[in-house]
Amino acid sequence: MERFNGIAASRGVAIGKLHFFDNCQRPVQLARSDSPERELERFESARLRALKTLDDLHTQAVERVGPEDSMIFGVQQALLNDRDYISGVRDLINQEHYVAEYAVQRTGERLAQMISQLDNVYLQERSSDLLDISGRVVRQLNGELARDLSDIQGQVVLVAQDLLPSETVQLDQSKVQAFVTGGGSRTSHASILSRTMGIPAVVGLQEQLSQLRDGALVVVDGFQGVVIQDPDEATLEEYLGKQQSFLEYRRQLKRLKGAESRTLDGKKVVLCCNVNQPSEVRLVLENDGEGIGLYRSEMLCLEREEFPSEEVQFQAYREILEGMSSRRVVIRTMDLGADKKLPYLPLPAEQNPAMGCRGIRLSLQYPDYFKQQLRALLRASVYGKLAIIFPMISTLEEVREAKRLLWEVEAQLRSEGLRMERPVELGVMIETPAAALISDMLAREVDFFSIGTNDLTQYVMAADRNNSRIDSTLNDPCHPAVLRLVRIAAENARARGIWCGVCGESAADVRLTETFLRMGISELSVAPASILELRKHIRSIDLSAQPQRCPEPV
Ligand code: PEP
Ligand code: MG
Repeated sequence: MERFNGIAASRGVAIGKLHFFDNCQRPVQLARSDSPERELERFESARLRALKTLDDLHTQAVERVGPEDSMIFGVQQALLNDRDYISGVRDLINQEHYVAEYAVQRTGERLAQMISQLDNVYLQERSSDLLDISGRVVRQLNGELARDLSDIQGQVVLVAQDLLPSETVQLDQSKVQAFVTGGGSRTSHASILSRTMGIPAVVGLQEQLSQLRDGALVVVDGFQGVVIQDPDEATLEEYLGKQQSFLEYRRQLKRLKGAESRTLDGKKVVLCCNVNQPSEVRLVLENDGEGIGLYRSEMLCLEREEFPSEEVQFQAYREILEGMSSRRVVIRTMDLGADKKLPYLPLPAEQNPAMGCRGIRLSLQYPDYFKQQLRALLRASVYGKLAIIFPMISTLEEVREAKRLLWEVEAQLRSEGLRMERPVELGVMIETPAAALISDMLAREVDFFSIGTNDLTQYVMAADRNNSRIDSTLNDPCHPAVLRLVRIAAENARARGIWCGVCGESAADVRLTETFLRMGISELSVAPASILELRKHIRSIDLSAQPQRCPEPV
């Protein structure tokens, strides 16, 4: 029995077999497939995607360093189209029935070895390019989560070095009992998604990940952030007990369905849910969410192979709004960039993506995509109670420009005779220190604020939210620096008479609930699975009594 300590990302206990998701950068294994046709298809589509990436890299490099120094990408494209290379891989798949990853790696190594021995310096140098392009294709193949999961028999505990939001959002929830990752923190998107799905997760295992074995039986303790490999009988029994009592606790909480989210002294709190997909409306209703406080619309892009058209977006927004009928749905315009990248829409590489072109910055740089989303939103507005929120705001001008584009789209829709519900509430996410500090000015522009404490914490503490080496004393929404900014935003909202909510993960942190309510926060938006527990806690708070000390005086 071995015990590994990581970060508790999502509560609950899972007992199951480990399944490695092949983005773990483990060496490619020799494996055979019973379907060479499928492997050939996988190879071809991964090769084409790798070619597309090289093409984009080439274009970017030409802009930055000029055509001469960018030639390498052209050469690599030629190698990926090389007949000997392609037939080498195909032969190994057809004749030896190797899986595509292994066939690609082996062909790359064989050809690289061959040309490194040639008596021609230029060709010798191409051997590293052959290894490079093979690595590229293997990475593309590893990105095929669907295939990887389609091999799963029954339920598993998924292990990955890191899960990208695009990968997490595609997981088949009926098969994944829990996640375990080497990287990540409590507020990385994989952790957030695991809480929405209500499955236990332990992240940040770092190097310990290499000691986990594919197929081994493990206990995942999402309360303590512990993974136990090869548990003995007594441990298994102990955890089966914990699993049962947690289920029982959740069952008891169900009694609070239909109850009010009101403090002992009568303050009503609006308790909403964060969702990532239209299908999660079911979870919101099951858990008695009073609305949707944050729909991360960019997830629509991450689960697809091409940018969702206006029609696809319209249908998704309509589904959510209709599903929630008269309850408010806050839809965030796409917060792409940083860790949410689109393989089919490569953006220029950035030195510091979290501080780069993400959220509203990206939307304003690509106004056609942004306007397409605004059209879909306004068209869907007749199907429910829509509110629109802009992410990653840091200047007044960004809000004004976003509103200008919204008005432009509205006028256009009117001229087309399309119906829409106007006005829809407009809000900004307060997730940069700048936004909090100018929240008095922002409050004049919008109808509400929602505080994204995940990013606010990352930016005010200069602590990468995705880095498991940043400890929780830095990545801490209870830090007074974060709370002071929350208070500033809440006070400025109140002064202007607009509502202010919190939709970062700290909204579900019961250590902070009383503090938030005393600051004037009137809405909390959390994962559906946290609603009833938070309601229970709110019902125990008495704001007329002496304040319970918040984590630190602010
Ligand atoms: C936040 O930053 O707190 C937030 C809710 O947005 P996201 O987690 O999607 O960045
Ligand atoms: Mg954010």
